[in-house]
Amino acid sequence: MHVIRSATRGRAASSITPTAGVFVARPEAMQTLDDLQRSTRSTGLVHLDLDRFHQVNTQWGHHVGDRVLAMLGPRLAGCLPVGSVVSSTDGDAFVAIVPDADWWLTTSIAERMLQVVAEPIVLEGAEQTVPVMVRASAGIAWRAEHDAPIDLMEHAYLACRRAKATAPGTVVGYEYSLGEQAVRRQRIEDGLRRAIAEDELRLFVQPEIDLRDGRVIGVEALVRWQHPTDGLLAPAVFLPDAEAAGLMTALGDWVLDAAIDLAEQWRELRDGAPMRVWVNLAAQQLADGEHLRERMTAALREGRITPRCIGFEVTESSLLEDLPAATGALTSLRQLGFEIALDDFGTGYSSLSYLRRLPVTAVKIDRSFVAGIGDSLTDEAIVEAVIDLSHALGLRVVAEGIEDVHQATALVRMGADHAQGYHFGRPVPPADLQASLSLPWCGATPPSTEPDPLVHLADELPGFGSPRARLLMAALDTAHDAVSSPPRSEVTR
Ligand code: C2E
Ligand code: MG
Ligand code: MG
Repeated sequence: MHVIRSATRGRAASSITPTAGVFVARPEAMQTLDDLQRSTRSTGLVHLDLDRFHQVNTQWGHHVGDRVLAMLGPRLAGCLPVGSVVSSTDGDAFVAIVPDADWWLTTSIAERMLQVVAEPIVLEGAEQTVPVMVRASAGIAWRAEHDAPIDLMEHAYLACRRAKATAPGTVVGYEYSLGEQAVRRQRIEDGLRRAIAEDELRLFVQPEIDLRDGRVIGVEALVRWQHPTDGLLAPAVFLPDAEAAGLMTALGDWVLDAAIDLAEQWRELRDGAPMRVWVNLAAQQLADGEHLRERMTAALREGRITPRCIGFEVTESSLLEDLPAATGALTSLRQLGFEIALDDFGTGYSSLSYLRRLPVTAVKIDRSFVAGIGDSLTDEAIVEAVIDLSHALGLRVVAEGIEDVHQATALVRMGADHAQGYHFGRPVPPADLQASLSLPWCGATPPSTEPDPLVHLADELPGFGSPRARLLMAALDTAHDAVSSPPRSEVTR
């Protein structure tokens, strides 16, 4: 990577002619570039992209965002040498084309462009004056005199993406290796864009069971990609790329629409009785709470759903990217009446504080703890403690990843409210689940109603707490006596 720092600034700044370039429409800029490519003149090209510009739109509204963009074009033109042009491209990016520039001049122009973008923008409005601060990253590409034409636009774009990914707020110069790395990612991104636009995504659903009576009370919506050549892809294969490409809002909108359609359809089929469809939200969606709120308000207003038809799941990591924005988004969804579950509970670092501060109504215990039931008293004690704690805070508890009837039985005994997992049903297309929705336990073997044998075992033991806690303490004592230093590892049965 070629991150260009201020060391270059002094050397080249003096060579910038103080007079200005011109802000032009995109076709005109492309014509200028075409003419230069066919000439023998050297050419520098800067791709400048505003960092986190969506936050300006979120904070101040799109009308302010548009005005900021309109101001920046001429401002950027003002720092270019005569004969240069700059135009806007792709919403919040700009491309500057500088004829007869050498590499150093192109670099220092890019740095100057970053500086002028960062100067405060004050928008005078009828009611208020809005001070807006924006930052940008830039990539540069360059073609020497007499060289054959090269794809300067693509090169500068790739360099800018590298800047945004690794050192936002800086200038990065194009290097050959950037192109190779970019090819793979670009292929996935293009594929994902196509998948969203051309309906290659599929909504799968997995049942959620009420452990008190075995009723199916909802489903979790889980996205899949029906790839034209690679077959059905799991989210783990493509969500990280979708996130890196900033496509999670588009993808999440697709999932939300599909979930609303499904909830509406099932409500009609079941004579108005709702079947809640739980939707996973990504960090990028939580960053724009207004967008989510508008979509959900519209679906409610149109009478397609009630708040009991949809629920939202968030993970601690999706909240952490921008906690205040995420809290705002969840609060407004909650105000509309939707339930919110904290997903993968127990895998993060400070989950307890989230339980207190966030407007969540349910906790989903991560399946890694459920997997230990029957093998690990420690995991069982954790699951039990999370259930008790959540209930003390008035939250419902959903256990994820139940794979057999023994785990289901243990969770009933521990007092979990709801359950989800392969034992009751794998994620499938909605049509495949429809017939089992009315079956008790979704057609799976019901948990045992026999009394918990651990209760008798624990009866013999001294101490206090639940049977599992007492067994765990007894096991720890035994281990302690055996090794004479406090055990730190897992206690197994
Ligand atoms: P998650 O939200 O925790 O979803 C549960 C995952 O556990 C699903 O994996 C599900 O198939 C799997 N699972 C359920 N029961 C069992 C079980 O008994 N045993 C085992 N081994 N696994 C079980 P999936 O569908 O591959 O999804 C993985 C993750 O991808 C989800 O985890 C969620 O974080 C994310 N995801 C899926 N769809 C979406 C979506 O539409 N939007 C967003 N933002 N994320 C999604
Ligand atoms: Mg989930
Ligand atoms: Mg989960």
